[in-house]
This record gives sequence, structure tokens and C-alpha cells, in this order.
Amino acid sequence: MQYKHLFGPVPSRRLGVSLGIDLTPQKACTLNCVYCECGKTDLLTLERKEYVPTAEVIDELRHYLSTDPDLDAVTFSGSGEPTLHSGIGEIIAFLKREFPQYRVVMLTNSTLLHLPEVRAALMPADLVVPSLDAVSEEVFRRINRPQKSLTSARLIEGLVTFCDKYEGEVWLEVFIISGINDTEEELTLFGQVFERLRADRIQLNSLDRPGAVDWIEPMPRENLMTLAHRFGPKVEVIGKPVLRHACSAYSDDISNRILATIRVRPSTLEDLAGALGLHVLDAGKYLDVLLGDGILEQHFGERGVFYRVKGD
Ligand code: SF4
Repeated sequence: MQYKHLFGPVPSRRLGVSLGIDLTPQKACTLNCVYCECGKTDLLTLERKEYVPTAEVIDELRHYLSTDPDLDAVTFSGSGEPTLHSGIGEIIAFLKREFPQYRVVMLTNSTLLHLPEVRAALMPADLVVPSLDAVSEEVFRRINRPQKSLTSARLIEGLVTFCDKYEGEVWLEVFIISGINDTEEELTLFGQVFERLRADRIQLNSLDRPGAVDWIEPMPRENLMTLAHRFGPKVEVIGKPVLRHACSAYSDDISNRILATIRVRPSTLEDLAGALGLHVLDAGKYLDVLLGDGILEQHFGERGVFYRVKGD
């Protein structure tokens, strides 16, 4: 079966070996974050609808999971915001009913959690990883560049309400950008929100690969640790990137094909995914590992971020 909506399994530094589910076209999102590794948002929208047929996604999942694969998680992530898909509740319910042995994880940018129907749809998931990168409206607009009717206040109220009702685990992710959301004022505001949120973990993250703009620099891990320390034991720094040998899902064949393609011509993430028939997030995970191993380097070009083999 040719899978159109599943990708991976990919090595994930937080979730282990994770099968990805992508429910939106490249790239539909409620935000257009400056750090987005999938590039700029083409369809900036709040419209919830069946972007891809729910029945087709369920068929693919049934086919894939019936082979009893060795997975740590089945994760809704993809190249846009998964809660934009109106069938998400039906797909989660299917997974919990027919394949309860798999941990269902939802990555979300939190923007639609103010909607009761979205909160209800996510309730059966085992783990929800919402993100929150700003508290003040100004910083929210600067980092997340939201659809115009979204506000930071509404996002935070939706997130707090969801966390209060949800019985699964919540790992809040905060993406830190030097000089933008690590100012004294913004950190104080974050502290106030962290107090209100029922989150099992709060994880600080920074850039692994370049995002949609070229002015963001990765924040050194030590600086992230210092920030985390300020907030107390509930806040931690996200784990180091996955190393290839730590992940049974890492395919040397795919890695070699990526290297062979890049040796011929430096390529963007989209170039590689298209040339090798990989999902952009699959290709991205391999790039993470190759960058982490020091085999690749990256630079900004006219069409975005290009990867080339170091020393070539
Ligand atoms: S990082 Fe996530 S929320 Fe932000 S634009 Fe990309 S897909 Fe959307």
C-alpha cells in the first residue's frame, strides 16, 4: 500500500520511534512561525475541515498497524496544524478502539484549543504536546505570525481550559528565540502562565535546523538550562537530537540516498523530499541526524535553507 498520510516511523528525541500522521496539505496552518522547519505557511487559516479524507487515513492506519509494528508512539504532527482537520476526533477514537496498545500523541500549536469541539476530540489521546512561544500579544505576532483574528489571550485561555479537563499527559513546549521571547518581561509573563497550567512537563526548545527566516540563531543548550532553572523543577530542556545508532528506525539506505543526492547538488528539504519520495518530516529527521553527526552543513540561499556535505 502506498501511504499518503503516514510517514516514518521517524526517530524522535522525545517520543522514541514514532509513526507520523499528516492531516493537512503542505502547508496549511493557523500560524506562520518564524522558526517553522517546514517553511512558510501557504494557507494561513482557521477553517476546520476534512483536508484529506478521514476514511483514507483510517484505512492507511489499519493497514499499517495490522502488521504489528514496533513503535513507541503514533503521532499527529505533519507539516501543518493537525487540529485544523475536522475528522481528528474520529481518527483518535479509531486508534484507541482498534489499536489501544499504541500511545497516541498529539502535537498542536494550541491555537484551536479554545474550541470545545477540538478539546473534546483530543480527550482520548494519551499525550498532548501543545506549544506556547509567547504570552504578550506583541511577541506572539512577531514569532508566530498568526492568522489575523487569533490572539495570544485566547490561545492561553484555551490551553488552560484544556489542561484543566484533560486526563492524559501534557508536555508543554516553549520555543525560545534569543532577544525575542527571553526578555525579562516575557519570562515573567511565562512564569505566570506556567503557574496556571496543569502540565506534567514544560520543555524549552531551540532551533535544530534553520526555520522560515534567516535571522534566528540556535540558543546554546547551557543558556536554555539557565532559563529552565529560573522556573524551577517543572521546567526542563528538551533532549539532545537523536543519534542514529540510538534509533532502530534509522535506515542507512535512506541516509546514503540523501547524502548521494546532496553530493550531486546542495538541496533544500523540499528538494530532497521530492527527489527521494520522502515526507518532508521524514527527510527532516534524517537531516537532523546528519547535522548532529557533523556530516552536513547548512546555508541560506534564494529558495531557503540548503544542505551540503561538509568539506565538499
Ligand atoms: S511551527 Fe508548527 S505551528 Fe508554526 S507554522 Fe510550522 S507547522 Fe504551523
